[in-house]
Amino acid sequence: MKSIDIHIHVLASDPDMDGYVTAMDRNGVEAALVHGLPEVDSMYVCGNEAVARVVRRHRGRLLGSVYVDLGCPAEDNIRLVRQYAALGFKSIKLIPNYGFDPNDEKHEPFWQAVEDLGLMALSHCGWFMGDKLRPELRLQSLTASPFHFEVPARRHPKINFIFSHFGGAATYLETVVLLSRLSNCYADVCPGWGLWVFENRLPGLQTLDRSKVLFGTDNAGNRYDRRMRRWSRIMRSNGYNRSDRRKYFYENAARLLKVG
Ligand SMILES: [Zn+2]
Repeated sequence: MKSIDIHIHVLASDPDMDGYVTAMDRNGVEAALVHGLPEVDSMYVCGNEAVARVVRRHRGRLLGSVYVDLGCPAEDNIRLVRQYAALGFKSIKLIPNYGFDPNDEKHEPFWQAVEDLGLMALSHCGWFMGDKLRPELRLQSLTASPFHFEVPARRHPKINFIFSHFGGAATYLETVVLLSRLSNCYADVCPGWGLWVFENRLPGLQTLDRSKVLFGTDNAGNRYDRRMRRWSRIMRSNGYNRSDRRKYFYENAARLLKVG
């Protein structure tokens, strides 16, 4: 079954992502959304320029998402998202674990700019591993949950919000609530918690609108075939028929990203 991966990053072991795109070719992954990261993670090539470079190199296969730290001044962030939207980027990427609350009123001008630019917003949600090399960083999970996006999600119906890792384990019911009530809220199923909630068939998941759940892997790469077989099995056990699985693997993301 063809697919789109809504959540990958630029790998330090494959900075041009040539090997990665070959793995996508072998497994019917038509496109992947590549998210920028802060300069604190040794597994990945961090920074938005690395994303811009691989998006240019693999045009149409890798799509761009600009990392934004809402702890920085709004004017700077608005300039940043305008700059990357002009390069054809589709999304912004946030990690509230670094200590901001996306609901905070002071971010309203930023959200207005995101909506005006037609960008989506994908946020890390739940527990954040961080980088073992930087144990001094202050990380906290409290504001990295779907309800911390409720204000901008209500006010800006044209921004599609994607809660990564299905909104985190402890807060997955917030994901269920927002996906059920707001047409512009979605979730990806990246490991660990995104995988965990579906493998355990937690209450509330089976009745969700199946146009709201997106395939994402955080870089499956050479493991795409195994990962997709596993996900097919998990989604079947959650009641997803063939047409639901087509939506999950491909059609939902294609609609959001306006590809295919
Ligand atoms: Zn990620």
